[in-house]
Amino acid sequence: MNQRGACWIAGLAAMAVIGSNLPFAHAEDGSSSSPSPTPSQTASPSPIPSAEELVAARPVVKGIRKVGHQLTASTPGWSAGATFSYQWLRNGKPIRGASGATYWLVKADQGTKVSVAVTGGLTGAASRTETSLAVKITDGKTGKKLTKPFVVKGVWVINKDHRVAKKYLKKGPGVLGSKKEASKALVKLQKAAKRAGYTIQPTSGYRSYSLQTTIWKRNIRILGKKRGEQMAAPPGASEHNAGLAFDLRSGSKRGYAFGRSNAGKWVAKNAWKYGFILRYPKGKTAITGFAYEPWHFRYVGVENARAFAGTKKLTLEEYLGLA
Ligand SMILES: [Zn+2]
Repeated sequence: MNQRGACWIAGLAAMAVIGSNLPFAHAEDGSSSSPSPTPSQTASPSPIPSAEELVAARPVVKGIRKVGHQLTASTPGWSAGATFSYQWLRNGKPIRGASGATYWLVKADQGTKVSVAVTGGLTGAASRTETSLAVKITDGKTGKKLTKPFVVKGVWVINKDHRVAKKYLKKGPGVLGSKKEASKALVKLQKAAKRAGYTIQPTSGYRSYSLQTTIWKRNIRILGKKRGEQMAAPPGASEHNAGLAFDLRSGSKRGYAFGRSNAGKWVAKNAWKYGFILRYPKGKTAITGFAYEPWHFRYVGVENARAFAGTKKLTLEEYLGLA
């Protein structure tokens, strides 16, 4: 809490400076006691605009007010030519790192009120900060009810909280029924592995809704509810249902043996270069809902994979702000 408070203060200080050429020239809402000089009525060749000449207005928040969706700040009514900086607020407190004109709603926003403070400036004039009305954020889960795909930052999120209805889960044209882009990436990954001296094969790509139901029930029957649910997803909650994941092996090395093999280690280290992520890393069960699966690789595209799996070692949920 203390840390958060410190961030808030730092954020406010930064906000006051950004967009203003004059530090501490930041004007509060409704301030009417500005000491700025009144511009002369007689024309002067290059007047310095005063704070009064900057017309400010309450910013407006647009977008779907649900976790996983994006809000946008709009600034109607401000002086033409004004430049802006933004700070998004959760229950009135600045959200760390949320300083763009748009903001992706994350799980922490659920049930809170989000608003945006916009600081606008004109060259040579004092800046002003105006805060939008706060909007109430609701649960963005599509989970319990089986509805349409839940997409964040262009990535289709499929997990136990975000299940997808059967009608969206079609067999694709790629390897083992996978989607085309995932299949192409797999071929590239296999070729690269080969060059490094390893042979890898997919053992599972697309799975139908009914096959997933069978697997899920069987796991629970054999392993018990807790472990069974960590090892298999219910229908609609598996990335295999969407054709965006592969389970890999290297010859006879399957499962955890694949993870321990040099081939498995190579894949874990290099898959991101081909757009794949090790979807369920060790020690992240509380976040992903699944046990460590060194064989399960999810296709998210090279750009996304590079952004978090390559160097930062985050799970998909953490990267998308859903954890
Ligand atoms: Zn899998």
